[in-house]
Amino acid sequence: MSDTDTRDPTSLRTPIVAVLGHVDHGKTSLLDKIRGSAVIEGEAGAITQHIGATAVPLDIISTIAGDLVDPDDFDLPGLLFIDTPGHHSFTTLRSRGGALADIAILVVDVNDGFQPQTLEALDILKRSQTPFIVAANKIDTVPGWNAHEDTPINDTYESQSDRVRQRLDESLYEIIGNLSDEGFSADLYWRVQNFQRNVGVVPVSAMTGEGVPDLLTVMMGLSQRYMKEEMEIDVAGPGVGTVLEVKEEKGFGTTIDTVLYDGTIRADDQIVVGGLNEPIVTDVRALLQPRPLAEIRTESRFEKVDEVSAASGIKVAAPELADAMAGAPVRVVRDRDLDQVIDEVQAELADIAVDTAEE
Ligand code: GDP
Repeated sequence: MSDTDTRDPTSLRTPIVAVLGHVDHGKTSLLDKIRGSAVIEGEAGAITQHIGATAVPLDIISTIAGDLVDPDDFDLPGLLFIDTPGHHSFTTLRSRGGALADIAILVVDVNDGFQPQTLEALDILKRSQTPFIVAANKIDTVPGWNAHEDTPINDTYESQSDRVRQRLDESLYEIIGNLSDEGFSADLYWRVQNFQRNVGVVPVSAMTGEGVPDLLTVMMGLSQRYMKEEMEIDVAGPGVGTVLEVKEEKGFGTTIDTVLYDGTIRADDQIVVGGLNEPIVTDVRALLQPRPLAEIRTESRFEKVDEVSAASGIKVAAPELADAMAGAPVRVVRDRDLDQVIDEVQAELADIAVDTAEE
């Protein structure tokens, strides 16, 4: 590279975030709230709805988080939330033997506390060594709670009565105690110095948005501090991803909704996809993204794009995809040896089979 050529072939990608927790503790509501806040705060087009995922860019996070986030402190581009919550999707979604999600939010209802699926989720996070934070949700249901929509937790906490604060504290310490029983040293997030050693607990309400600024700030901080190196990718390199779902789409045949976590996929790429019996070798026919709502009339729900880079959610239309499987790897061949790429996909499929057998 000459002195004048400052292009960097590597780039930092968006961390992929999964939301786990017991049924009814508020996973879907929390994702909806984050999406909703991002849409309200965002200029048109700044928040992008991906296939199966929602990208919340750093500038939107910093607007939502207000004083909590100085965008100059970060160089990761934002967060990509997988839209399907729950640990079934978490366990089936793999990347190169690890979890597809780089980081997770474990949602716990402050009133209901730890429940069987909370414990299951913790076990999965432990085994996959996925860093996570706990969202202690539904703080607005503490009796006597006085809601302050979308504010950071400290602001709303300070304005509650002593009795309400005491009730919330009790619930939060119970959650911290439960985490400790499971072998995780945890504390309220503002007391945590080292998020690699301690789990941060963030009090939130998916209903009122209280604490959501804190949640996004902590996720961003955790990613920036401890995962930056893992986020370095070769943006122009051949894409690598995981199939979220296999779907029939009118006019396109069988398609695979894919989360790309490395490199780039282009509309004229050859790809290898994990199949029921053997790796499927095929050529991309179209790369599809959701069309912005305003543009949907009689046209397709999707718009074709020429190229996407990690991390993103994209629908891939191609022939021969009928045997593709959710959770299977997708690899772009481009200028590499086809047999080698097939071997890589086969090796990843074998890994998945072993993991599934162990569960
Ligand atoms: P999931 O099964 O974990 O995805 O839970 P949902 O997001 O579907 O939420 C279950 C129920 O709890 C729904 O009726 C939500 O409206 C409600 N809920 C979720 N979060 C909150 C919250 O922060 N406050 C209150 N009051 N209700 C909530």
